[in-house]
Amino acid sequence: MSYSYEAPVSQALFDRASVVTPGGVNSPVRAFRAVGGTPRFMVSGDGPYLTDADGREYVDLVCSWGPMILGHSRPEVVEAVQAAVARGTSFGTPGEGEVALAEEIVGRVAPVEQVRLVSSGTEATMSAIRLARGFTGRAKIVKFAGCYHGHVDALLAAAGSGVATFGLPDTPGVTGAQAGDTVVLPYNDLQAVRDAFAAHPGEIACVITEASPGNMGVVPPREGFNAGLKELCALSGALYISDEVMTGFRTSKAGWYGIDGVAPDLMTFGKVMGGGFPAAAFGGRADVMAHLAPAGPVYQAGTLSGNPVATAAGVAQLRLLDDAAYAKVDAVSAEIRGLVSDALGKEGVAHRVQTAGNMFSVFFTSDEVRDYEDAKRQEAFRFTGFFHSMLADGVYLPPSAFESWFVSTAHDDRAIERVAAALPAAARAAAEATGEGVRA
Ligand code: PLP
Repeated sequence: MSYSYEAPVSQALFDRASVVTPGGVNSPVRAFRAVGGTPRFMVSGDGPYLTDADGREYVDLVCSWGPMILGHSRPEVVEAVQAAVARGTSFGTPGEGEVALAEEIVGRVAPVEQVRLVSSGTEATMSAIRLARGFTGRAKIVKFAGCYHGHVDALLAAAGSGVATFGLPDTPGVTGAQAGDTVVLPYNDLQAVRDAFAAHPGEIACVITEASPGNMGVVPPREGFNAGLKELCALSGALYISDEVMTGFRTSKAGWYGIDGVAPDLMTFGKVMGGGFPAAAFGGRADVMAHLAPAGPVYQAGTLSGNPVATAAGVAQLRLLDDAAYAKVDAVSAEIRGLVSDALGKEGVAHRVQTAGNMFSVFFTSDEVRDYEDAKRQEAFRFTGFFHSMLADGVYLPPSAFESWFVSTAHDDRAIERVAAALPAAARAAAEATGEGVRA
């Protein structure tokens, strides 16, 4: 299949980038490898729109992979950032902005009694796991196949063939020793967790899970799954870590915790809390957090942690995220989900739109997707034609069938109409897809 539109300026930038940067990008999914074609180099964002280097405007349904929940260049956030920049960009000392951001987080998410700021979600999960190991004095950690927690060595392990296994590294560069204490289990399978605790009594430091996974597409926890994890952890003295880097401050004021009410021992945050800047956090029970340096012996640090510009952006964004803002994001999400499903339905394309609050993704299968194995069974090749048709008609989707779509308060009627107008042709492309020659 070939696509009848071109992006010469983006292509030229990509060619330049590919000389000096591996694969031409600074995070793999941006390279469009799953869908083929030229990654669009964006030059500006305004509300629900992105404009690329060729001057084409797109309705943005990625929102920087979640952070831009108020849309791009929201004036109040931009003003807060400009004021912070004018005061200086980094001090390497404590500052009021980081106190204000920590207070916002603690004020919204009841299980978080104390929080430590870091610069990326990866740092947050890495540090939370170190803290859990330091607190419990145990080595093993449990994660679920299909859950992504950043590129932490110990977490870049997914199940090999077979049932509950010790993690095999997913990538060269992660040694068996680094992944060897990671037990990888199928998602949504409490019995597998029970079995793992039985197999390793007194050895498991923590269970880490996405609060509601969005990194294998959107696969919400079954009723009682998170509560079951918490209970099993409590029974064996392990910590229950809920990774809310994606869901935090997006699915509700208090993230996924605000929806399911299951209180974790530790939580991790990123994305929305940084207002588009590198800011992330981990926090939770005060008695656990007290083990962190300098209060306690578990070391963790960061030159730019609590950066004044990032914290100003985060505080400004969080303060704008009131009940009305979440109601708006939920409504936009519901409307777009409905449009997508109608369009695919009209073309007879088997699909399922799965949701977690206002996060959603489209699976090209009619079966429920409960775990990573289910997700991989979808006809992902249909997504390629769908994606490129949407792109050609000015809608920017995540360039993979295994990612959540994100919307914002800025997605107004005009933006939604543009999505609606693009969908019939994209649904047709999905219907006609054969899975052959999908690269542009
Ligand atoms: N945890 C989850 C659930 C994520 O979705 C991500 C990133 O997408 C991370 C952790 C890692 O965050 P970062 O990319 O900021 O390192």
